[in-house]
Amino acid sequence: MHQISFMTILMQSHDSNVKAARETLNDLVGSFGFYPENSLIIRWIKRGKVVLTQRCDVAAFVSPEGLSQSDVEIYLEPGQTYFAEEAVIVICLDNVNPRVHEVIEVVGSGMAHANITLVDAFIVVGQHIISSGCGGDCQPHVALTDTGVSRLDREKQCASNPALLIDANEFPQLPKPESLNAWRATESLFVQDRLSRAGGPLALGEIVRLTVAMGDIRVRDSILWDMANGVFDRRLVASLLTDLLPKLDAKHGASIATCAAVCWWLNGNGAMANLCVNRAVNDLPGYSLAIMVRTALEHALPPSFWLESINELTRDQCLSGLEVAP
Ligand SMILES: [Zn+2]
Repeated sequence: MHQISFMTILMQSHDSNVKAARETLNDLVGSFGFYPENSLIIRWIKRGKVVLTQRCDVAAFVSPEGLSQSDVEIYLEPGQTYFAEEAVIVICLDNVNPRVHEVIEVVGSGMAHANITLVDAFIVVGQHIISSGCGGDCQPHVALTDTGVSRLDREKQCASNPALLIDANEFPQLPKPESLNAWRATESLFVQDRLSRAGGPLALGEIVRLTVAMGDIRVRDSILWDMANGVFDRRLVASLLTDLLPKLDAKHGASIATCAAVCWWLNGNGAMANLCVNRAVNDLPGYSLAIMVRTALEHALPPSFWLESINELTRDQCLSGLEVAP
């Protein structure tokens, strides 16, 4: 009798384990906007709340011979930055890899070393979930996850698409230096207006005008100020800017991709922010804002870092440069 009730409890906890694993996975896909294939994901938790979801390529963990504690340290820094108390690991694989159990063990003991408790770890292979509570006699549990859009698909959607590219001749010319300030003021308001109404379609003439305007650093910064100060619906603006990327060549892509990255970051979607900032750096390897944003993302800095920096300035200072009187 005693034994039966113990078995029942064990099975119930296994069932709820699998259910939690499924929910976590669907949550991840929902927040990333894609299925994170071949990824190791760490959810950092503080006081019962997820404070950061971190995605890494799983290859970094399973490729090197004999993963050691020091190999994984860099991946644990964000958890420490966020003062995480607990963590959950999710590993999404295309094929079964016997080394993942060792990976979980090494990452888990690294966490323990940093006083972070690994509360759960599960592995997703294709459409199947293996939870930490699964025994050898478990039938595969179906993941019930939408794997329709993969990370690779999303990456392609952020790249230039030759079939959709806007002809270089369509883009307006920059004004002469003497009328630059007046142009900036007009174009900043134009972009602000169009992004405030994000969600509706943009005409080709609007897209090219917006792109050239955002290519100007001062106009771009005034729009980033608006973005930080709640002028826009950030979800709509992140999608709008990202949707422009396939239409833009390398000459025009960097500033739009960087602004999209900032917007995703502010939305808490570091995964999309990374895809966009990679596009920006590919387009223009020396684009300083992109490099700064990428570094911030690599160190998993919270968006509040960005908000505080930009709010050191007023919108006018962004638009005119710092020579404006305070
Ligand atoms: Zn099981």
